[in-house]
Amino acid sequence: MALHVVGNVCVDDTFYVDRLPRPGETVNAVASARGVGGKGANQAVAAARSGAEVVFRAALGADADAGFVRAALAGELPLDGLAVLDTPTDRSTILVDRTGENIVVTAAASAMAFDPAGFPVRPGRGDYLLMQGNLRADVTGACLKRAKDRGAVTLLNPSPLGSTALPTADVVIVNAVEAEALAGCTDPAEAAHRLSRDGAASVVVTLGAEGALLLERGEPRLLPAPRVVAVDTSGAGDVFAGVLSGCLARGLPLFDAVAIGVRAAAVAVTRRGTLAACPSRPEIAGLIN
Ligand code: ATP
Repeated sequence: MALHVVGNVCVDDTFYVDRLPRPGETVNAVASARGVGGKGANQAVAAARSGAEVVFRAALGADADAGFVRAALAGELPLDGLAVLDTPTDRSTILVDRTGENIVVTAAASAMAFDPAGFPVRPGRGDYLLMQGNLRADVTGACLKRAKDRGAVTLLNPSPLGSTALPTADVVIVNAVEAEALAGCTDPAEAAHRLSRDGAASVVVTLGAEGALLLERGEPRLLPAPRVVAVDTSGAGDVFAGVLSGCLARGLPLFDAVAIGVRAAAVAVTRRGTLAACPSRPEIAGLIN
């Protein structure tokens, strides 16, 4: 069954600095890198590397950055689901200091203008839909509802949608900060119970080095993360959500999909970068078997 990932994609320009500049200050970077990012693209690639059949829907502009994105994603994902809009391709500028602290500014005109309603390939019965919080909240809610009405299983990782509107989904994946903001309590199991009362059938709360908590059929279970030396945790959440969803679409039970997501994300935190840190197809296959 196909996994439809509907979300955003952008060009990430990352500058590594000794320390973050103060307002009005200019600092030289020690190194810089250009790559493809965006939660939608990151999760779609992680899902595809899990062996799922992935349909990726996101919007690009008609500019040189769009060519960069296509070249970077070719070989990872089918690109025929990428819409071309009359907006610039989305871009992020990311500053990372020596301690890993970062500042991100994103120009998200394409994601904000994107409405996938007219796309002919829609998730249907037996398919899966995974969305994040980068598209407009009304568009996200409508997509999830349409997919649900057509019999698809829906997954939502609402980052960075904010705490105002959480559309309903079969599986909601949040980190501890989002769980607290959305549910209004710090205990992950209680937060998961509250989110499930708000309409999510199952809730996964990621807990960094502690692993993840799965609330399924009212029963909370903790899946601990393997102990690793973490060098860069950025993008771990996307590897987790993508691999979990990919495994689910391949027919694995939710508990097993979460367990494999935990193991794949633990590999990702031992490497620098976001997409660059995502385990390869053979690595994920090794975690599944
Ligand atoms: P990010 O925003 O950095 O991508 P997140 O805040 O969305 O991540 P986290 O809960 O920090 O989400 O991490 C997601 C998953 O990554 C965790 O559930 C865990 O499986 C794995 N992970 C994160 N940090 C570590 C760590 N230090 N050691 C092992 N696994 C980790």
